[in-house]
Amino acid sequence: MRDHLETAPVWDAVRQTELCPFCALKKMIETQGVERFLGGSVMEPDIRIRTNAAGFCPAHHRMLMAQKDYHGYALMMDTRLKEAISQATPSLSGLSRGGLFGGKNTDKAAQKLRALTSRCLVCESMADHVRAYRETFFRLYQKESAFRAAFESGSGICLSDLPDVIADAGRYLSGEMQRTFLDAVSRKTLAVFKTAQEDLDALCSSFHVGSEHKNNPRCKGALERAVNLLRGHTFDPE
Ligand SMILES: [Zn+2]
Ligand SMILES: [Zn+2]
Repeated sequence: MRDHLETAPVWDAVRQTELCPFCALKKMIETQGVERFLGGSVMEPDIRIRTNAAGFCPAHHRMLMAQKDYHGYALMMDTRLKEAISQATPSLSGLSRGGLFGGKNTDKAAQKLRALTSRCLVCESMADHVRAYRETFFRLYQKESAFRAAFESGSGICLSDLPDVIADAGRYLSGEMQRTFLDAVSRKTLAVFKTAQEDLDALCSSFHVGSEHKNNPRCKGALERAVNLLRGHTFDPE
């Protein structure tokens, strides 16, 4: 059962064809993460300690706000702000009293202040979970030929996830299986790049007067696909 629960999302991610499988997994983790941080767990002490200390990036603040749980969100941000103020106060008090000046001190104060906005709990949770899912991905790839076939006919891996996947292939696969995967992933990536480039070329041409590409279905979503392929899931597929 445990194995089923772990592998099912990876199977789903490889079978869907709209996004890179790791982007699809991250999207799922992201949605669950935003709901978890603002759901019933908002008052749980250990979650409160973590949200107070780390906070969220702008993109995930927008997703938290979109949950429309304004009371829970306000309570969470109230203690996060208190924590940020208490962390920032020593530096700001030092600067205001004139005790901290000169390059070394301003650099140190800047570093302390910068650290207050350098983390995001949802981003960190996505990175942790997707690392574990990569391990599951390679376990399935090694064990199941149906999984290898699904990967080969899937949507390919975006350029943002590809380096971690390649690095982990060297870690989790060996011998012939590693060679098979590296061959498959490289061929797939080059093919996906080629298609994305052709689709985007068609879209660019479609803006010209009298273009033969005006109603070319390949233009639909070409810009979103190109961005998602380069930087990972940024736009929902059309
Ligand atoms: Zn991706
Ligand atoms: Zn984030």
